[in-house]
Amino acid sequence: MVRLNEIRTNEVAIAPPETVHAGLVFIGRISTPWTSRMETPRQGRHDGPVCIIEIFEPWGAALAGVERFERLEVLYWLHQSRRDLVLQSPGSNGEVHGTFSLRSPVRPNPIGTSIVALEKIEGNRLFVRGLDCLDGTPLIDLKPDRTLFKPIAPPQKGDFETGQVHM
Ligand code: SAM
Repeated sequence: MVRLNEIRTNEVAIAPPETVHAGLVFIGRISTPWTSRMETPRQGRHDGPVCIIEIFEPWGAALAGVERFERLEVLYWLHQSRRDLVLQSPGSNGEVHGTFSLRSPVRPNPIGTSIVALEKIEGNRLFVRGLDCLDGTPLIDLKPDRTLFKPIAPPQKGDFETGQVHM
């Protein structure tokens, strides 16, 4: 069941630390058909509705070459999420799971990721399918689907390393 911000049976919230170690710049905004978390898909689908990712200036130039990839990885900030649960009950049935074993939007840093299908680009706007976020969700990054991307930079030593865990 989709959460608004309630705590469910057996869920555990912690007092999150106040320290901030990193800052993010919202580089765009995502327009979707969904205005309620109760209606948004739990995971996007490539035959789902077309959504629009708008890239803010001065980041428009960073779109050069993006059109070569039919799939993109989108990272976004699930801005309405609570961030303090360590045990969650997605089924609202008292059975709980650790936050890091879930893809729930409720997490210490509420970053959502989706692989989207790119339909077209018009200026600073990308038309994509495969999202699962609310209308107005802030965009934090965009990159090619890793399965389509070959590094352009020359290989380096670590690329060829195999073997034991190095501690
Ligand atoms: N695909 C992403 C992932 O796996 O990282 C997100 C999955 S998360 C389960 C998707 C759900 O997050 C939606 O169904 C909705 O309930 C919730 N959600 C979407 N946009 C949100 C936002 N901006 N703030 C808070 N919750 C949001």
